[in-house]
Amino acid sequence: MQTDTLIVGQGICGSMLAWWLEQAGLSFVVMDEPRPFTASRVAAGLINPVTGRRIVKTWMIDELLPFAVSTYREIGATLGIDCISPARVIEFFPTPQMRHAFLDRYADDREHLVLPVHEGDWRAQFQYDLGYGIIRGCQLVDLPALLEATRKRLKEHGRLREERFEQGSLITGITDVRYRDIQAGRVIFCDGVESTANPLFSRLPFAPNKGEFLIIEASDLVGRGDIQTVFKKGISLAPWKEGLYWVGSSYEWSFDEEGPTESFLKRTGAILKDWLNVPYKIVGHYASVRPATLERRPFVGFHPLHPQVGILNGMGTKGCSLAPFFSYQLVEHITKGIAIRPDADVRRFTKVLSHSS
Ligand SMILES: Cc1cc2nc3c(=O)[nH]c(=O)nc-3n(C[C@H](O)[C@H](O)[C@H](O)COP(=O)(O)OP(=O)(O)OC[C@H]3O[C@@H](n4cnc5c(N)ncnc54)[C@H](O)[C@@H]3O)c2cc1C
Repeated sequence: MQTDTLIVGQGICGSMLAWWLEQAGLSFVVMDEPRPFTASRVAAGLINPVTGRRIVKTWMIDELLPFAVSTYREIGATLGIDCISPARVIEFFPTPQMRHAFLDRYADDREHLVLPVHEGDWRAQFQYDLGYGIIRGCQLVDLPALLEATRKRLKEHGRLREERFEQGSLITGITDVRYRDIQAGRVIFCDGVESTANPLFSRLPFAPNKGEFLIIEASDLVGRGDIQTVFKKGISLAPWKEGLYWVGSSYEWSFDEEGPTESFLKRTGAILKDWLNVPYKIVGHYASVRPATLERRPFVGFHPLHPQVGILNGMGTKGCSLAPFFSYQLVEHITKGIAIRPDADVRRFTKVLSHSS
């Protein structure tokens, strides 16, 4: 078969890329090996405009957030799902230093930070001693729903191959690529942490990062008002499916095994016991690996020596906000030759990539 683009991987990157290619009227095929615990399938789905110990705005968020919201809404309308909703974070201060940091930032950032009128008003549900602050302007993305509905649509349109892509079967030419029976104008790798083993891209400064989390049943735990509420006290508690909460996660640069560990279960179980005043039951424990990068910027664009081979990866902890924008940039680059942002363009690594094939 012939197609414009072969996409490898249907996580948030591959799904977004498929969306923009379809909008641009280009043909494509997505090859994805079904796996239950990929980063996109297990992510909490939170887009938080201010993060870190200093509670400062994240990179490019003023541009990324509105773009992400409108993209998820458009896709949702086409797929018949509601995959993004406004959210806030109730941040219970875990230490006096964190309380100070929040109050300091509050003076400068009234757009995102709010102080409660009554600091004790969550005590029926949570145990906390140092008060809390509220981060507003967040969004929660329902990635499982988005991935599932996208997959269904791809299948219906005959654009999905549910199989493993084998690097050894790829033949790259000057103007096209061949993969078994597929002749494509280009191949774009959206394969998450697997790209670290791709001989064409393995020299990129990836820094895979493991995250473990629990799923708990806590039907007495309810947010208030008409927006979703994420609770935080060192770890996050985010609404998952009906009556369930996602609790996590760890953030590990160095790990021996990719699966769930006893030590995380014990540690997080103890935190929950001290923190929650409502009954709960742990019903799941999972782990996945984030395709993070050393300089915390994504990898977008085409290989300097193989111009028909592209990558959309390195979303780290922020796939929900980065993927909509950078998949769009990539398609604008393909269709109109518009330059990719230099700090995201993979050609900033031309030197190292020139030694990788
Ligand atoms: C615990 C945890 C919590 C997170 N929470 C958040 C959050 O709240 N907000 C946020 O923005 N981000 C969050 N993230 C980060 C986010 O999940 C990632 O940035 C994002 O999902 C990366 O998407 P991706 O499409 O690049 O990769 P992936 O989701 O890994 O998708 C890659 C796809 O490629 C397929 N694939 C790989 N190799 C092959 C092959 N050889 N052949 C065929 N198919 C292949 C895989 O099966 C998979 O479907 C979290 C991550 C973790 C682990």
